[in-house]
Amino acid sequence: MEESRFSVFKELESRDHEQVLFCRDELSGLRAIVGIHNTMLGPALGGCRMYPYKSEQEALVDVLRLSQGMTYKAAVCGLNLGGGKCVVIGDPKQHKTELLWRALGRFIEGVGGRYITAEDAGTTMKDMEFIRMETSHVVGISRALGGSGDPSPVTALGCFAGMRATVEERFGKSSLEGLTVAVQGVGHVGYHLVSHLVRAGVKVFVTDVDNESLKRTTADYRVEVVSPEEIYSVECDIFAPCAMGGIVNADTIPQLKCSIVAGAANNQLGDENRDGEALAERDILYAPDFVINGGGLINVANELEGYNQERALDQAEGVYDILKDVYSRAKADNIPTYRAANNLAMDRIESIERIRRTYTGLRRGGPGSLIRGVS
Ligand code: NAD
Repeated sequence: MEESRFSVFKELESRDHEQVLFCRDELSGLRAIVGIHNTMLGPALGGCRMYPYKSEQEALVDVLRLSQGMTYKAAVCGLNLGGGKCVVIGDPKQHKTELLWRALGRFIEGVGGRYITAEDAGTTMKDMEFIRMETSHVVGISRALGGSGDPSPVTALGCFAGMRATVEERFGKSSLEGLTVAVQGVGHVGYHLVSHLVRAGVKVFVTDVDNESLKRTTADYRVEVVSPEEIYSVECDIFAPCAMGGIVNADTIPQLKCSIVAGAANNQLGDENRDGEALAERDILYAPDFVINGGGLINVANELEGYNQERALDQAEGVYDILKDVYSRAKADNIPTYRAANNLAMDRIESIERIRRTYTGLRRGGPGSLIRGVS
């Protein structure tokens, strides 16, 4: 019943999407959806997620929500990129084949560079390399092939820089030494974040549902392990979500005993408005997720100009300044930080749109640099 009332175009209108591509390939069994949200700043870049979605509606809503987030992330990070994302319906443990990725690669090639893919949850560098056999519009490939490799250490670096900005804002101190941080999820990003925190003299609590991830972290660093249920109520300065989205919500916010929420996970707020406001009401400073985790996007975007690690790391550390701008804007406008970040992103997109319309009469410009500092 619900499914029949669902309107694809209503969904596109509600988030202001430009284009959605439904991809089906009989031979490989591929069923994928590419969401292109906004290409005002440049080609839409965003990862390809593989997940056994329960329904087509769930897959579509996910790709629309995620691609919109990528528009905001690219805009606020100062990249000349738009927002896009791809979802492949299937179980990453069972349904991956070379044929499937190459079929997807041909669909991506077909949109002529309007969408650039990368790895995301459920996909790997190897999958991207199959896609690359059919199209050049893919990033996040191995260093050996001229790519930028695993983005998670750079995401963690940016996240740590963002934590420094947030601590400065909340506690007026430039170092994290002596603080306590509770990290939810010590997978790719969480593990590297723990490394930065421990080196900075932070007391770290961790949790994970995966024993292997926990074992690796406790073997390498002095941290205290708590259960997945306990992590929300750990008495700490910073709660750092580094696992799944939607975990800052009406159930968990009352449990929090922290002054700051700052972590790498995407879409942390269960309901952006309700939960963003609830954090502000509890006087918990929220580092907007798409800003503090921008290091990963910054890293893969650097591939488009010829990957240079020094430049990528330097730009990822720039998350510090971007978050400082978000906090200044929130204070000046007396609004919660999640809204300040959205406003900063929209302001940049709208100002570029105005310039383009005024001076060229075009909606999009010609080929220019996709990242700063490259002529
Ligand atoms: P990952 O899958 O490597 O790590 C996530 C970890 O969280 C895993 O170890 C998993 O077992 C654990 N986990 C899952 N559910 C949990 C639960 N209920 N409680 C505790 N732990 C749980 O993923 P990742 O690449 O480290 O990414 C983590 C988050 O950061 C994701 O939300 C991702 O979208 C976001 N992100 C990642 C990057 C990147 O560079 N990898 C960039 C930007 C944003």
